[in-house]
Amino acid sequence: MANSRFEYVKSFERESYLLPSSWIVIRVDGRGFHKFSDKYKFAKPNDIRALNLMNAAAKALMNNITEVILAYGDSDEYSFVLGRNCQLFERREAKLVSTFASTFTANYITLWNQFFSKEPLDPTFLPTFDSRAVLYPTDQSLRDYLAWRQADCHINNLYNTSFWALVLKGGMTPNDAESELCGTISKDKHEILFTRFGINYNAENEMFKKGTLIIRELKDIAEAEMTATPVVSTHTGPAILSKRQLERIEKRRRKADINVLHTDIIKDDFWLERSWILK
Ligand code: ATP
Ligand code: ATP
Ligand code: MG
Ligand code: MG
Ligand code: MG
Repeated sequence: MANSRFEYVKSFERESYLLPSSWIVIRVDGRGFHKFSDKYKFAKPNDIRALNLMNAAAKALMNNITEVILAYGDSDEYSFVLGRNCQLFERREAKLVSTFASTFTANYITLWNQFFSKEPLDPTFLPTFDSRAVLYPTDQSLRDYLAWRQADCHINNLYNTSFWALVLKGGMTPNDAESELCGTISKDKHEILFTRFGINYNAENEMFKKGTLIIRELKDIAEAEMTATPVVSTHTGPAILSKRQLERIEKRRRKADINVLHTDIIKDDFWLERSWILK
């Protein structure tokens, strides 16, 4: 393209490249979903349609962006994990976070009617998602990140289940329910649920308690990557694969199964069963 006298303004642009060799986590979160969930009459504490829609939008994103290895979501958020050597958009941060937020939003809106056929979207009140990228330099810190989100899901769900039982089944005002739960520990909430409402928290839906993990089953691809030799160097770190190898891996990624699980990712079992993730 011919240079124009205006082109110097391009030099004002700044690019932030995410550090090489670190795990990249991109977390999208619904904007103002407290209000959004009221507007579209989400059931409290857990609207199953809304959770299934979040999961479907995350899965659609993973079909489209094959570099995502796994994703974990609950409530109005989803975290997408990209591998240490991922070179998507040369690891440019703005490109990654804006693409994830817009791809997720586009899928969420497109899939809306499948889950909320009786609640058409109001064009003046559309769902949107923000997104951020965080780097985790060690395998332990990536595991701790995911454990943190799952622990958060559990704590919020136990609180919300107790709160809404007191309000909807116990006839309390939201303020009274909040005071009732103030200072209670996990055991007290289990007790309130069981003795007053006959609810055995442990028997609640696994998706509500543990959130959702979506995993691309890449066992054999991970092995192929491990045996690959470095060929090119770029400013974002060593690219470890040749073009042909990359194409082959991309093809296998597209074909890999994507599984949806509601399982514990805090304990070791999940990570031992899929030891290829943290090679
Ligand atoms: P922000 O824009 O800062 O993220 P927010 O209102 O979205 O604000 P969050 O902390 O993200 O705040 O909380 C999301 C809220 O959305 C939850 O507290 C809950 O009220 C509601 N929500 C999300 N998913 C569901 C669901 N499946 N069922 C019922 N309510 C939900
Ligand atoms: P990237 O993902 O890096 O942005 P890109 O393919 O979107 O890649 P751009 O530099 O953004 O590259 O260029 C957008 C291209 O989209 C244009 O070069 C043109 O081919 C096409 N395009 C955009 N708008 C129109 C339009 N209104 N009519 C025809 N073609 C269009
Ligand atoms: Mg939110
Ligand atoms: Mg949230
Ligand atoms: Mg473009």
